[in-house]
Amino acid sequence: MPNYEYLKDIEKYGRENKIPILLDDTLEYISKILEEVKPKRILEVGTAIGFSALCFSKYLSEGGRIDTIEIESLRVEQALENIEKVGVQDKIRVLEGDALEILPYLTEEYDVVFIDAAKGKYLEFFEHALRLCKKGGYIIADNVLYKGMVQSDYNKHKQRTAVNKLRAFIDMVLENENLESKLIDIGDGITVSKKMR
Ligand code: SAH
Ligand code: MG
Repeated sequence: MPNYEYLKDIEKYGRENKIPILLDDTLEYISKILEEVKPKRILEVGTAIGFSALCFSKYLSEGGRIDTIEIESLRVEQALENIEKVGVQDKIRVLEGDALEILPYLTEEYDVVFIDAAKGKYLEFFEHALRLCKKGGYIIADNVLYKGMVQSDYNKHKQRTAVNKLRAFIDMVLENENLESKLIDIGDGITVSKKMR
């Protein structure tokens, strides 16, 4: 039986070590979607120490599984340890490497795709997400408002490239006719898209 008690320690570790794990209100919002969807398959881009994947695993339907991709081997190690502690090795599969190299090899369909990695690559991640998401499924992207910078006109900061890319990303998501999308100002900003066709 999974022991979700460990999640508190994992969350504490993440916050204390400045690992950008899901913020409380974002987690709450996504959890409501997952409760409704009862996903069989979830794909995550950006595992970090496994916190979000572990939280999502509570909402999987019987026999469900999460595939989550992480580029940093130290984080992969930590995620695997945490997954073992909680006891959900059968529910979460960690794929190590650059998501842009791994995603092209995935062929399964997912009920929910969660994008939470390098902000400059969201457009590319999303292309794969679109292909891999089931009709009627959801694609959720985190940190799209990037600490308020995406919606402010102050752009003389070193994050300018990422900010411009996120703006282009949000526009593309909101304009895509195959999706019903919204931009939600909670946490660090998320887009939620339902794939209609
Ligand atoms: N989803 C996690 C937080 C992820 S933080 C949670 O909420 O608990 C973002 C992670 O994405 C970092 O660990 C970073 O190493 C990873 N990452 C960044 N670029 C990546 C890429 N191209 N492919 C895979 N992982 C990437
Ligand atoms: Mg995030």
